[in-house]
Amino acid sequence: MGYSSKSPWLIHYDGSSCNGCDIEVLDSMMPLYDIERFGIINTGNPKHADIFLVTGSVNHQNISVVKEIYDQMLEPKVVVACGICACTGGVFRDCYNVIGGVDKAIPVDVYAPGCAVRPETIIDAVLKAVDILDEKAKKLKAEKGRG
Ligand code: SF4
Repeated sequence: MGYSSKSPWLIHYDGSSCNGCDIEVLDSMMPLYDIERFGIINTGNPKHADIFLVTGSVNHQNISVVKEIYDQMLEPKVVVACGICACTGGVFRDCYNVIGGVDKAIPVDVYAPGCAVRPETIIDAVLKAVDILDEKAKKLKAEKGRG
């Protein structure tokens, strides 16, 4: 188990959205908000990631992609729904091709609402996710110890 709460890595996927929250996620990684000061690094590889940040809603076209990224991540892992579209489907929820929020595809650990979600909210949600990740890591370790 390679996870360390001092250096959790995240992967970001933008579903069906206006790209507003997508830009805010990038903003949270830039020097002004600087999510890296918490040791958090953005990766493009699900197998390296501990935290899955999803913006935008889930639709019939992208649901398999969301599931695929999640399935490729190793345990322990956490999911953060960023923005109201990712939380519930938001302004797109009545669109013919939209299924809803990210939790229609995979389990969500932290909901970060907003339209667009603020970088401060994203960072707050990611830090909550790190706490949940720690709990999951402890549980996993205990289960392995029992096995
Ligand atoms: S929550 Fe608002 S800003 Fe974010 S993707 Fe949806 S419509 Fe765009």
